Amino acid sequence: MALRTLASLGDLAGKTVIVRCDLNVPLKDGQITDDGRIRASLGTLNALSSAGAKLVVISHLGRPDGTPDAKYSLAPVANRLSELLGRPVTFATDTVGDAAKAAVDALGDGSVVLLENLRFNAGETSKDAPERESFAKKLAAFGDAFVSDGFGVVHRKQASVYELAEQLPSAAGLLIEAELDVLEKLTVSPQKPYTVVLGGSKVSDKLDVIGALLPRVNRLLVGGGMLFTFLVAQGYEVGGSLLELDQVETVRGYLAKAKEIGVEIVLPTDVVVAEKFGGDARHVVAAADAIEQTEFGKTGLGLDIGPDTSRNFASIIESSKTVFWNGPMGVFELPPFAAGTYAIAEALTRVDGLAVVGGGDSAAAVRELGFSDDQFGHISTGGGASLEFLEGKKLPGLEVLGWQAQ
Ligand code: ADP
Ligand code: MG
Repeated sequence: MALRTLASLGDLAGKTVIVRCDLNVPLKDGQITDDGRIRASLGTLNALSSAGAKLVVISHLGRPDGTPDAKYSLAPVANRLSELLGRPVTFATDTVGDAAKAAVDALGDGSVVLLENLRFNAGETSKDAPERESFAKKLAAFGDAFVSDGFGVVHRKQASVYELAEQLPSAAGLLIEAELDVLEKLTVSPQKPYTVVLGGSKVSDKLDVIGALLPRVNRLLVGGGMLFTFLVAQGYEVGGSLLELDQVETVRGYLAKAKEIGVEIVLPTDVVVAEKFGGDARHVVAAADAIEQTEFGKTGLGLDIGPDTSRNFASIIESSKTVFWNGPMGVFELPPFAAGTYAIAEALTRVDGLAVVGGGDSAAAVRELGFSDDQFGHISTGGGASLEFLEGKKLPGLEVLGWQAQ
């Protein structure tokens, strides 16, 4: 069975449609620093409005752990969404409570409401299926149909992604369709050499994907927070840098497997080591096997790949025909540690072939560093979701919409 698309929902005039978007944008002091994910949701929202539907938009923001937390309110997102849509968006201050009910009841034709953060409710991400289902039923009561368009979460079996799609007539939105078009090019006979670049801070999530990814690529470049687990696997010391000690054995296994099947795992040869975490922290470049030999000793923090590594990674990327990059190479939010991420982004713009950037923070990074979307083959709104797709995994949020990988 193929992915159900908007057309499968029939005539939506006068109907209330719940739309799961991924509006999980980066915020700093309450300000949105990259609105890429909001922009990416507009196509579907405009198409549904043009079809005469009333819209109940739902999303998560950050990881508030199942209880309301003002820091993770979607209120600033409602304002930006309204500006970008060019019409009012009502914001409901809860997700399935009285405020949400009142806002949904008051919806007129063609109007839009955004409900408060889904993850303020424990049922959204509960491990317990009946608990998720009961939350999904409350959401489902708000609409006649469900459109799933949060590509960044389709790898999660969560109430608003999976159970909700079972409660109502459901279909994928235009963003999910567009994302899948590009990702299929990366999985169905990609041009070689095929290079995947991994970084970022969700270390254990991303280490998990490497095993399945290895047989599919020619080269794997490792930067960001996960590089230190690789360095430790090689017997080096990494000071106070991010480290998943319990994954060291797994990583040794990856290094051995890569050797056996002829895939290159390329690790940094140098690292930028800082005295502490901060934009004004003193920092030096150290060889990857001498991180604890700097003046900061055992407490130095590796916050970016070094210049030699940047040059090496850039030349490997530029000689590739297909590149997928997820995860910043360093703490790009702090200017002294942005150079590695900048170098990799620039190399991707020079690829003679298909270069794809995926991940919320990775997309934000390339835009913040001054690149424009059209310099890349595609900027995906999903990091984890894209990676799991490339691994060939079954993604619950797509399967529930009828999708089956070839
Ligand atoms: P994405 O959203 O693109 O999938 P992640 O969420 O996994 O990426 O990671 C993004 C974060 O990783 C950024 O906020 C960045 O500061 C952080 N990061 C990158 N390198 C390091 C490092 N060496 N130490 C700590 N954090 C890092
Ligand atoms: Mg992220």
